[in-house]
Amino acid sequence: MKLILIGAPGAGKGTLSVPLKEKLGIPTISTGDLLRDAIANQTEEGIQAKSFMDRGALVPTEVVFEMLKKRLQEPDAKNGYILDGFPRNLEQVKLLESYTDIDYVIDIEIGLDVILERLLGRRVCPKCKYIYNTSWGGDSVHCAKCGAEYITRSDDNEETITKRYNLFVEETEPVIDHYKKLGKVIEIKSSESEEVKKQAFDALGIN
Ligand code: AMP
Repeated sequence: MKLILIGAPGAGKGTLSVPLKEKLGIPTISTGDLLRDAIANQTEEGIQAKSFMDRGALVPTEVVFEMLKKRLQEPDAKNGYILDGFPRNLEQVKLLESYTDIDYVIDIEIGLDVILERLLGRRVCPKCKYIYNTSWGGDSVHCAKCGAEYITRSDDNEETITKRYNLFVEETEPVIDHYKKLGKVIEIKSSESEEVKKQAFDALGIN
């Protein structure tokens, strides 16, 4: 199965991707993670991408799509995958459609107020990608899964979050409309992770 997770930054795409990939046995491929790994490894693409990411802008599509195609050719992706963060505009939809067919698009709807609250408290494990939120209490320094020290993403600050949200409304909402016309969209209306998972699993018939 080939899925796209779509939603504003902080909607919970990364969180939903965990039970989905476990249940379906296919990898989650996040273009944001691919780009952050490229920055950490100081590759050519990472160096090009960093300034765009730090200011909440989109990285040029050709850079992202080349990285994505390489990742999609790895053996673990041969039976399908869950795309998180791609496509983000209609130009990227066109490229993806020229490359492969997608089965469903899961659209997680959420307001800017919830997003801000969530992303300002978001911490990410750089090693295993586990996502933690300071509002949950407990150890806010060490990853609950692997013990590495959490980091705060450099683009999780109020100014950049607002920019990324506006970019989502302008550029990514037309992507949802496109897939709605094709009858591929599963709409999720919740900000509570268990409920998001339930609605997605029910719609996909994978309970
Ligand atoms: P994310 O982890 O999906 O929130 O992405 C973080 C940042 O990476 C975005 O704000 C963009 O700067 C960049 N990025 C991720 N995916 C894409 C994409 N498909 N196209 C362009 N830029 C992207």
